[in-house]
Amino acid sequence: MMDSKRKKATNGPASGRMLGYQFDKNGEYRIDEQESKIIKLIFRLYATDGLNITEITGRLREKGVRSAQGKYIGKRAVRYILSNESCTGRFVYGKKATLGNGKRVKNPEDKWIVAHRKDLAIVSDSIFKKAQKRLEDNKRKPAREGEHAGDERAVTDENHLLVRGIVTCGVCGGNMGAHKVKAKKEGATHISYVYSCIPQSSHGIAYCNSRKARAKEIDEEIEKRIAAALGSKDNIRAIKNKIKQMSKPQNTERKKEIVELKSKVAKINGKLSRIEGLGAMTRLIESQARQKSDLEKQKMAHLLAIADIEMEMLRNEAPLFDENLFEALTGNFENAFASFSSETKRSVIAAIVKKVTIKDRAIAAVEFHPPFDALETGGGDGK
Ligand SMILES: [Zn+2]
Repeated sequence: MMDSKRKKATNGPASGRMLGYQFDKNGEYRIDEQESKIIKLIFRLYATDGLNITEITGRLREKGVRSAQGKYIGKRAVRYILSNESCTGRFVYGKKATLGNGKRVKNPEDKWIVAHRKDLAIVSDSIFKKAQKRLEDNKRKPAREGEHAGDERAVTDENHLLVRGIVTCGVCGGNMGAHKVKAKKEGATHISYVYSCIPQSSHGIAYCNSRKARAKEIDEEIEKRIAAALGSKDNIRAIKNKIKQMSKPQNTERKKEIVELKSKVAKINGKLSRIEGLGAMTRLIESQARQKSDLEKQKMAHLLAIADIEMEMLRNEAPLFDENLFEALTGNFENAFASFSSETKRSVIAAIVKKVTIKDRAIAAVEFHPPFDALETGGGDGK
C-alpha cells in the first residue's frame, strides 16, 4: 500500500499531498478514502471518546496506522490534524504572504481566500467544533496530570504517567488509560495515578477483570528496564547496527525533497506577488491572472501544508536518531533521562517503547520500536 501511494505521489501532477486528500489525474483535489478514515478516527477518539492526544498516538501506533510516507503519526501531527479546518471542507488560503526577501508574514483577513467545499468535508462541523473547544480548554489549563492547584499534597512526581497512551491490558487486550486516585492519609489528600483498563470501565468487570496498576511503580520499572537495556554494550551495538539499516537515508531523501519543494513554492510565491502587483493592467488580464494564480496558490498552500506536516513528523520520529541524543542516552541513560522534562521523557519513552502490557498490576511484556526491538528484553531485574 505504501509503495503504490509513494509512486502515485511522485508520478502525479504534484509530488506532495495533505493527509486525507489526493490530487486526481486532472490535478483536482479529492478525498483519499483510506486516509480520511484515519482523520475521522482521530476526531472520534478525541472529540467523542475523550482520549487525549498521547493516548490517540498510542492507539494509532497500536493499529499500525502510518502516514503515506510510512511514518507513525506523532502528537504534533495529531494536534495539527485536529486543528486543521480544511477537513471540514472549509479551505482558507493566503493567511500568510511571502515577502520579496522570503519572509512569511500574516495577511489581513480580508486578503484571505476562503473556499467552501462541502464535497471535500471529511468530518462534520459539529465534531470539529467539539475538538476545537477541547483543544482550547486544554490550552487554558495546562496543569494536568499531577500539578493540581489547591492541593499541596498532590503528586508532583514528574516521572509519573510515562507510558500513558502505550499501555495495554494483559487480560482483554484493550487500551489502558490513566486515572487519578485520591486517598485520605493523616488528614491530607494524597493523589496518585493508576493505569486501568478502558474497556473495563465502559463494559464492566464481567467483560474484563484486570486490576488497576500503580502508575508510579510501572513507570519506575520501565525506566529501570530501559536503563538496563541501554546500559549494555552488546545492546547498544545491536541498536546501532539496526539504525544503520533503517530509514535514515529515506528521511534524508525526503527532507531534501521537502526543501526543494519549499524553494519551488517560494519562487511561485514571488511570481504571484509580481502578478498581484500588476495593478495597472486591464481588469480582464488581471482577473485572468488572478484566477490562475489562485489555483496555483491553492495547490501551493496545500503542498506547503503537507511539507509542514511531514517536517513535523520527521522531527517527531527522529529524536533518537539524533547522534548526540543517542550518545547521551546510551552513554548514561539514567543521567540523561533525569535531565529531561516530563513531556520529553514521555516522548523519549514513546519513541523507544511500542507497547507495555500490564497484567496482575505488573508489567507482563514490553514491545520496542525499531531499532530498539534489537534490545534484549529478558524481563526486569528481579526484586
Ligand atoms: Zn482489560
